Amino acid sequence: MSNSIQRQLVVFDFDWSLADQDSDRWIFEVLAPELRRKMKTLKKDVQWTDLVASTLRELHAKGGTREDIEGALRKMPFHPAMVRGVTNLKARASPTTTFLCLSNANIVFITTILKAQGLDTLFEEIITNPAEWDPSGLLRLRRRVDPDGPQHQCKIGCSPNMCKGEELEAFLERHQPVYDRVIYVGDGSNDFCPVLRLRAQDMVLCRRHRGLEKLIAQYEEEGRLKCQVRYWAGAWEVEEIFDQL
Ligand SMILES: [Mg+2]
Ligand SMILES: [Zn+2]
Repeated sequence: MSNSIQRQLVVFDFDWSLADQDSDRWIFEVLAPELRRKMKTLKKDVQWTDLVASTLRELHAKGGTREDIEGALRKMPFHPAMVRGVTNLKARASPTTTFLCLSNANIVFITTILKAQGLDTLFEEIITNPAEWDPSGLLRLRRRVDPDGPQHQCKIGCSPNMCKGEELEAFLERHQPVYDRVIYVGDGSNDFCPVLRLRAQDMVLCRRHRGLEKLIAQYEEEGRLKCQVRYWAGAWEVEEIFDQL
């Protein structure tokens, strides 16, 4: 079957999937652990993107600078095998591979880290929460779906800031003709919605020991998942699967 695949799409979640850490938590662990502790306390009551935005404001008020945040992002764990795996896959002439990033982090964290890893031209599109530096060095972060406008219609359990399933479908709509195969690399419960929309010829590369694995296992047992499932724990295993594609 693989001979008939000419165009494929690889979709990457960012935190704990492409990157080997969670950027939203990491910067506070590095720069202000007391704020990291406070986030843990507030997590159940405050929407996550809003919580990161307000914690960034607190960090700024305490004197945390843009340079501090960028420095922390540049040294965030990122597995060399992942860099190698995506670089080699992109370089291969057949099938051609397009890369899409679908993440609940934000555009500044992601682009800063990609640049540090030499991957700034990897993705066709990065779909995530908007953010920008203001002149005072505060990183202003907003939800992708504006809380004051119309909300997404997802019933699978996506966070209010974005439905990854709807975003994936909109991307596929914008990039016709349909891809011969879609490969989704994810780890979290917020990756479940897009995975449910994959077809029989598609594949999810699910990271073990995190939220997505539990959700998938139940559906797989009941035969309710259309796509193929491969599990991985370390980035070197993703590289291995990419090399076998
Ligand atoms: Mg993740
Ligand atoms: Zn959804």
